[in-house]
Amino acid sequence: MRIEENKTLAPFTTFGIGGPARWFVEAQTEEDVVLAAEWAREQGVPLFVLGGGSNLLVADSGFNGMVLHVALRGSQTQDGSADEVIFRVNAGEEWDEFVQRSVEQNCAGLECLAGIPGTVGGTPVQNVGAYGQEVCAVIERVRAIDIREGGCVEFGVAECGFGYRTSRFNTTDRGRFVVTRVDYRLRRGGAPTLRYADLQKAFAGDAEPTLAKAAEAVRRIRQSKGMLLVEGDPDGRSAGSFFKNPIVASETMDKIAAAVDKEPPRFPAGADGQVKVPAAWLIEQSGFTKGYAVGAAGVSSRHTLALINRGGASAADVMALAERICDEVEAQFGIRLEREPVLLGF
Ligand SMILES: Cc1cc2nc3c(=O)[nH]c(=O)nc-3n(C[C@H](O)[C@H](O)[C@H](O)COP(=O)(O)OP(=O)(O)OC[C@H]3O[C@@H](n4cnc5c(N)ncnc54)[C@H](O)[C@@H]3O)c2cc1C
Repeated sequence: MRIEENKTLAPFTTFGIGGPARWFVEAQTEEDVVLAAEWAREQGVPLFVLGGGSNLLVADSGFNGMVLHVALRGSQTQDGSADEVIFRVNAGEEWDEFVQRSVEQNCAGLECLAGIPGTVGGTPVQNVGAYGQEVCAVIERVRAIDIREGGCVEFGVAECGFGYRTSRFNTTDRGRFVVTRVDYRLRRGGAPTLRYADLQKAFAGDAEPTLAKAAEAVRRIRQSKGMLLVEGDPDGRSAGSFFKNPIVASETMDKIAAAVDKEPPRFPAGADGQVKVPAAWLIEQSGFTKGYAVGAAGVSSRHTLALINRGGASAADVMALAERICDEVEAQFGIRLEREPVLLGF
């Protein structure tokens, strides 16, 4: 295990922003994770776990601690019951490559999550979801190293505390576990999930939708929204959605509808008559259009939810823009938007 010093983090993030990590180590095995965690504990320095850096904004001053880059590679498959297949995938595998493999093996459950950057280990952390699927629906087990108590633990899906963009790994046990492997239970020969309106439109009149066609359609839709990482596309220099879609009481939206004299989009969200409101709608109604820019930071030209590095932006530029948007949305609608990406070093 080689510990590097003052390693610039910007190239490890999809934003392409961020100063140096005081210490940096790449873990290729569970043993590396244990050793790095022990080292950080002995030195009394904070430890941050880095996957693909696709949901992360690193401060311009960097991070005065140890960054543990998860690079455990490899995967195995095993037959489950009936037509199910268990994929045991190490945390450092590229997520989108794994999704592609599962689709090629005709296994259903992840086809709508094609085109999302990052690592396998990052997916349970915020219960990654898109286009009608969430990983919690197919995760069977999460294996992790407990850096507080030491040792290896395995969590069944019911123990992960999954919710909308949340899990125990980014709430109650934030910073405690390093995910080293995730097991997914997929359905061999299952039909693609075509719940999302854009996908239903893409498949209208197609009597034989396949998993491969669904994954391809998702990538196409993502690209049209600048939500696919494509070399040279400035709209991709982001962390995806910068804000979560707020979940509010239905009456709150009734009041907003009356105030703006138009019907805001809203979708049922769990119990108590709560509804999920697209943050993009709130942002647009507050006067921030696609392509809005303040210096080198801006709103994607194809999706209001993504803040982008237009070239040479600092973390401070992005945070100032995010703050301006949050303040304006709150002033207009009384709803404070919540940030989706993780902040490091602020
Ligand atoms: C263009 C674009 C589109 C996106 N679209 C979506 C989308 O549709 N849906 C969605 O949910 N997300 C989306 N994202 C966000 C992001 O890709 C996902 O959240 C992804 O799962 C993050 O994984 P990562 O490996 O990059 O994690 P990182 O960004 O490296 O880390 C994010 C958090 O997870 C923790 N973490 C990472 N790996 C581990 C590990 N092995 N063990 C413990 N903790 C870990 C980190 O400590 C950090 O707190 C998008 C991002 C971009 C740039």
